[in-house]
Amino acid sequence: MNESDIRLTPIKNGTVLDHLPVGTALKILEILQLSKPEKAVTIAINTESKKMGRKDLVFLEGKELKKSEIEKIGLLARGATMNLIKASEVKSKIAIELPEKAIGIIKCMNPKCISPIEGLETKFFILQKPLRAKCFYCEKTMGEKEIANAIK
Ligand SMILES: [Zn+2]
Repeated sequence: MNESDIRLTPIKNGTVLDHLPVGTALKILEILQLSKPEKAVTIAINTESKKMGRKDLVFLEGKELKKSEIEKIGLLARGATMNLIKASEVKSKIAIELPEKAIGIIKCMNPKCISPIEGLETKFFILQKPLRAKCFYCEKTMGEKEIANAIK
């Protein structure tokens, strides 16, 4: 296959996640449970970016993200751009920010925490610089790597 055969198929309707930090695209597919998607998913890893040097990209045909999915992506890839595509045109473009709270999207890694024992919805306060998540119930604080592993 020569270079001219490699094309990124632009999507007609769906979502494009742009300006993702390198290495986050595959994790995002895992979070969105898209290992066997119903419609086309195209990803680019470690591609050139004028803004960031290098970036990942995810194209999701026929998919709009739910609020909870956007919050999960915010925990992994804050500053990424979400483009909503309708009839091959960009209908909206938003910067994905770090959520202030994470409700029901990450699990507590403290085995003694009452949240799973009591079947409570998980609740975390999100702190920035460095990124941390503090459990509302047991006050355990998780760092960036732990948060990435705790996203459910
Ligand atoms: Zn906890």
